[in-house]
Amino acid sequence: MKDIFCRIIDGEIPCAKVYEDDDVLAILDISQTTKGHTLVIPKAHCSDFLSAPKETIDKVFAVAQRIGQAQISMLGAKGVNILSNVGSEAGQSVPHFHVHVIPRYGKDSGFQVTMKEQDISSVDLPRLACVIKEGIKE
Ligand code: 5GP
Repeated sequence: MKDIFCRIIDGEIPCAKVYEDDDVLAILDISQTTKGHTLVIPKAHCSDFLSAPKETIDKVFAVAQRIGQAQISMLGAKGVNILSNVGSEAGQSVPHFHVHVIPRYGKDSGFQVTMKEQDISSVDLPRLACVIKEGIKE
């Protein structure tokens, strides 16, 4: 079965379109976490950021940059959060790669990013870095 973004791309479900070219569609997120919250979606299906081909990532992020710039120049946003959830544990609810471009106005209640410092006294950081390094593919 087609995911919801494939159905939007195929014109089966309406959307508020912000941008479109041959490869990428950008639409307003139905949830509008903040005013102007936009999703940038590749037209060719791939499930998430980690499995997307590099050319797809390049195209999607290039559009995300332009949309973030427009949110600042046209909506008066003071900043922008760019994020792509991968996996349900990370909050991904639609299994089709997409990037959220979330404009921030300074007093937003809808979207919070908190990265709390953890006690890392028992973590060997250089060793941990080596473990990740070993898994990085060419
Ligand atoms: P995720 O949770 O996968 O990172 O993001 C999926 C996003 O898609 C959610 O923020 C959700 O509000 C949005 N969404 C889900 N269904 C629709 C829809 O039918 N139309 C639009 N415009 N956005 C949708």
